[in-house]
Amino acid sequence: KLPAFLHVISDIIRVKAEQKGLAFRLYLPANLPASVMIDERRLRQVLLNLLGNAVKFSDRGEVCLYVHNLKHNDAEATLRFEVQDTGPGIPADQLQTIFNPFEQAGDMQRRHGGSGLGLSISRQLVKLMGSDILVYSRLGAGSHFWFELTLPLGDELTPSPSPAKTSDLH
Ligand code: ADP
Repeated sequence: KLPAFLHVISDIIRVKAEQKGLAFRLYLPANLPASVMIDERRLRQVLLNLLGNAVKFSDRGEVCLYVHNLKHNDAEATLRFEVQDTGPGIPADQLQTIFNPFEQAGDMQRRHGGSGLGLSISRQLVKLMGSDILVYSRLGAGSHFWFELTLPLGDELTPSPSPAKTSDLH
């Protein structure tokens, strides 16, 4: 279920953040859908990448994951997933190139341990889910990465196996 999924991701990132002396906060809306239809592995990889970068590049302050329910009806919800950090920020001329494979911004010291592939893969995954990753950042003012997904709502209750199914087995 969506809230549990987000809490698991948050627990992983909170540990990493606290190891660096950073705070981590998760903000969920009161009207977060209990269940949505989504490729869980894709969403997990993208969120862990964006949150992992936020922790990796920040030396102080906090990393936040916001989920907003932008609009919903009986069938689907449009959710915005937003990762904010209080890291060094990204120079304006590099805001798009960081999405290129092997592209790394900033000073050499910050590059170790990275492949420069994370954002490129994350953008591809979000595109496969029908959207795109956007970024807002200013040098010295942290970074915001976000994407919006319109997702069909799932069944809150796991359906019990239908009796008809058993008669299909011969
Ligand atoms: P990697 O983290 O392996 O270097 P990514 O593709 O995930 O590769 O990121 C590419 C580059 O974008 C990083 O090397 C860094 O320069 C910049 N970047 C990504 N996220 C952030 C962030 N939250 N704050 C500052 N710079 C970032």
